[in-house]
Amino acid sequence: MIFGANFAAETSKSFIFTDMATNRTFTMIKPDAYLAGNSGAITKMIEEAGFRLVAVKLTKLSAERAGQFYEVHRERSFYGELCAYMSSGPVVAMILEKDNAVADFRTLIGATNPANAEPGTIRKLFAKSIEANAVHGSDSDENAAIEGSFFFSGTEQF
Ligand code: UDP
Ligand code: MG
Repeated sequence: MIFGANFAAETSKSFIFTDMATNRTFTMIKPDAYLAGNSGAITKMIEEAGFRLVAVKLTKLSAERAGQFYEVHRERSFYGELCAYMSSGPVVAMILEKDNAVADFRTLIGATNPANAEPGTIRKLFAKSIEANAVHGSDSDENAAIEGSFFFSGTEQF
């Protein structure tokens, strides 16, 4: 019998592990897109691309919290301006779920610089500049988990 009890138990264990490891990403709708009234249109694109909303929060980062979030970029020339911009208005933080979530979401949003983003991507449609580029997207499963827990407790994730 192919689907015996042991097989089912092993399989479901590995599915649970795989889901946790690879199927979630983190995004923020950045202040430029929120203030322009594009949060709904962007969220619609995200859901139509097959992502499930696991957690959603409208919030505002202090400059200090923005600095912590972008700690990895501390040495980059744009770090100070980026932190000021990201704390200049509200953001919509979201955890998203889909197979291959991190890579598929990067494809959906397009290149960091909207001038280089593919037609039809979120950044091509909504970004104002390389800095005010409408959305954040995690770059790895590990960072997706770190960034998600930066904004959401376990009981805020569904
Ligand atoms: N950024 C910027 N100038 C640059 C590169 C990046 O202002 O030359 C900002 C931009 O908002 C970007 C964020 O810093 O989204 C993080 O940069 P990263 O290289 O991680 O790009 P992303 O992963 O967001 O595409
Ligand atoms: Mg990045």
